[in-house]
Amino acid sequence: MNYLHFHGILIFTEDMNSINVVNFGCRLNACESDLIKGFVYELGIVDFTVINTCAVTTEAERKLRQTIRKLYGKNPDIKIILTGCASELNPDYYIKMDGVVGIISNKTKLSKSEYLKYAIQRKISSVPLRPKVRGFLQIQNGCDQKCTYCIVRLTRGNNVSFHEDEILQQAKLLLTKGYKEIILTGVNITSYGRDLDAHKKLPFIVRYLLKNLPELTRLGLSSLDPADIDDDLLKIIVSEEKLLPHIHESVQSGDDLILKRMMRRHTRTQVIELNEKILCARPDVIFGADIIVGFPTETEEMFSNTKTLLREAKLSLLHIFPFSPRPKTAASLMPRVEKKIIAKRISELKQLADDILTQKLTEQIGANVIILAEDHFNAKTNSFLPAKSLDTLVTGREYLFHCESIEKNVIIGYPVKEI
Ligand code: SF4
Repeated sequence: MNYLHFHGILIFTEDMNSINVVNFGCRLNACESDLIKGFVYELGIVDFTVINTCAVTTEAERKLRQTIRKLYGKNPDIKIILTGCASELNPDYYIKMDGVVGIISNKTKLSKSEYLKYAIQRKISSVPLRPKVRGFLQIQNGCDQKCTYCIVRLTRGNNVSFHEDEILQQAKLLLTKGYKEIILTGVNITSYGRDLDAHKKLPFIVRYLLKNLPELTRLGLSSLDPADIDDDLLKIIVSEEKLLPHIHESVQSGDDLILKRMMRRHTRTQVIELNEKILCARPDVIFGADIIVGFPTETEEMFSNTKTLLREAKLSLLHIFPFSPRPKTAASLMPRVEKKIIAKRISELKQLADDILTQKLTEQIGANVIILAEDHFNAKTNSFLPAKSLDTLVTGREYLFHCESIEKNVIIGYPVKEI
């Protein structure tokens, strides 16, 4: 499984040989691809390969083109349907690629009838089962902000929040299917509710789900915009035990001028103070962050502000991206930083992030922590730190786990008992 990450969102592509829905892009895309996969099997359109595309970086598009060519090279009879942000932006280009037979727009990609058009109806008796560990639940789509580097808001439009009952139904469905943990996801989940009644913000949805689903014991949040973490959200982060102690923030840079040029709405001091407040009330929280390196005009000094922010704001689980100029964005017109300088800064930042993570992991040695097993040996702690077990685990079960040592930035240990 290859993965990328953007806006705090885990991105993965799956094994292209075994499935016919290929996902590129964010966790939201992954969440949608799961639904599309449902249509594909339900409608029996296994003769088609659906690719849910991503346009967040030039690299994501390059990989997409490479994937289409590879699939076509292996099977010149392949019928590929594209949907998602890249095909939304350049439909004329993609439709001409060998193997591509159709494009479904971002707006209708979750409408079953779109796939029916391509379907050769065929009954599939069994849908392959995957272990149920972590389910992603979309609560909103689109974004109202105007970050100068971002193409996602252009491809997905303004913020649209889903109704709480719709979200509750989806959450129930995930639990019924056996998912142990639910992560609330979207393009920008901290903008949830801005288009609804004033009181229905992200904390409202968290409370609503926990109140109506007492069996939901592990709830996570995908990326949060630090500018939108208000007192109510802060309160729920530090006081709600069923909310996992892993907070991923869309930080992007540690330099205030760069943040302004990105049109982000927070400063480095706000991130530091916010994280201090959270840790003060809930010391087990581990922070993750998205960082863009080499944003136009970034000097060595500005980059060094990002480096110092990592330690000052206690950011340890980082997703680092090189700046990628996207068409039709303001940042693509700004003076660029040389590629080799970006590459050098990326490796420096990765090394620093690794050191900080090692330090965080080392703090766990000797402790007993709760983990969720992702397969027979791999797991994540509640704070989302990676763990490897010396004894066999059962996928999807929770254990009290003894942390014995650290190896290649993974906690090594054994289950003390199942909980
Ligand atoms: S907050 Fe900014 S980066 Fe995130 S989706 Fe909205 S415009 Fe894009």
